[in-house]
Amino acid sequence: MVRRESPVPELPEATAISRGVTRLAPSPTGALHLGNARTFLINWALARTNNWRILLRIEDLDTPRVKTGAIEGTIDILRWLGIDWDEGPIIQSADLSPYVGAMESLAGRKLAYPSDHTRSELETSGDGALSAPQEGSHEVAFPRELRPSLEPRPFDARERNWRFATPDVDVTFDDGFAGRQRHCPAHTVGDFLIWTKRGQPSYQLAVVVDDRRQGVTDVVRGDDLLDSAARQLLLFRALRGERDADDTKEPRYFHLPLVRGADGKRLAKRHGDTRLESYRALGVPPEAVIGLVAFWSGVPGPRRELDAATFARVLDPGSIPRRDIVFTAEDDAWLRSRRS
Ligand code: GLU
Repeated sequence: MVRRESPVPELPEATAISRGVTRLAPSPTGALHLGNARTFLINWALARTNNWRILLRIEDLDTPRVKTGAIEGTIDILRWLGIDWDEGPIIQSADLSPYVGAMESLAGRKLAYPSDHTRSELETSGDGALSAPQEGSHEVAFPRELRPSLEPRPFDARERNWRFATPDVDVTFDDGFAGRQRHCPAHTVGDFLIWTKRGQPSYQLAVVVDDRRQGVTDVVRGDDLLDSAARQLLLFRALRGERDADDTKEPRYFHLPLVRGADGKRLAKRHGDTRLESYRALGVPPEAVIGLVAFWSGVPGPRRELDAATFARVLDPGSIPRRDIVFTAEDDAWLRSRRS
């Protein structure tokens, strides 16, 4: 028999050069405010100028905090701003099987274990085992001595809390905005929750499973999640270990300084009504919101109205201030003055 060699096909240029992928990942736990607008607009502008594919991922697994109508409201307000995406919305709660699969893999490789210790028990376990809660969260470091002996387990109890056996290593990475980072989650949070007794993955696990399976290469978000990135990288590496040929790359991170009120606290209700839907209801055009975001993001010149495409063109990532942004009374007055 004559064997004919089939020629090795040449990859077309477009597939040879892989395209970046990013995600807009709103949590439908309330209406988007000016701070969210800034993060999403910068994420979108970086994606459009770098030709990254954009996924819209709705992170709705924190069920007790999910508000009725917030998914539709978020999508509507993103569109109002002129933000678009190439795929989605992908709704996390629609299919839990990828998270269950990740739990089976971790538990089977001695990297996860069930843990019934309650938060109040941890808070009183004393001896300085608890770290200060981070801004906006009430995290409690899990004392290492409460970790049981690690053994391969089936993931057979979805109605219990499960923790990640956090390796005691420093995690270093270069953040596109925040610079070189070094964190040690084993010391700051210890064995953190990856599955909750509500029968759902924790935020940390869900993000990593999704970023991996959705091929996310670039993550742009607020710097309140900077210390979560180290945890997520550890989970990323732990899940990568499950298949020999898995060469999924860790994403690059860009953590943006937050928008704060004049009191230095992150933007919230106490700073007045900064919800985008409220400005829209007043008759403030999206171009005014984008113009304010541009003013906050190092685009030269005074506040002026801009559309999203122009914003993407004039934004220079190198000029985005590396310090927090303060939302002032003048900002609010300027927005209101643009009412049509
Ligand atoms: N859904 C998260 C939030 O709204 C963002 C998560 C992420 O970007 O990793 O805070």
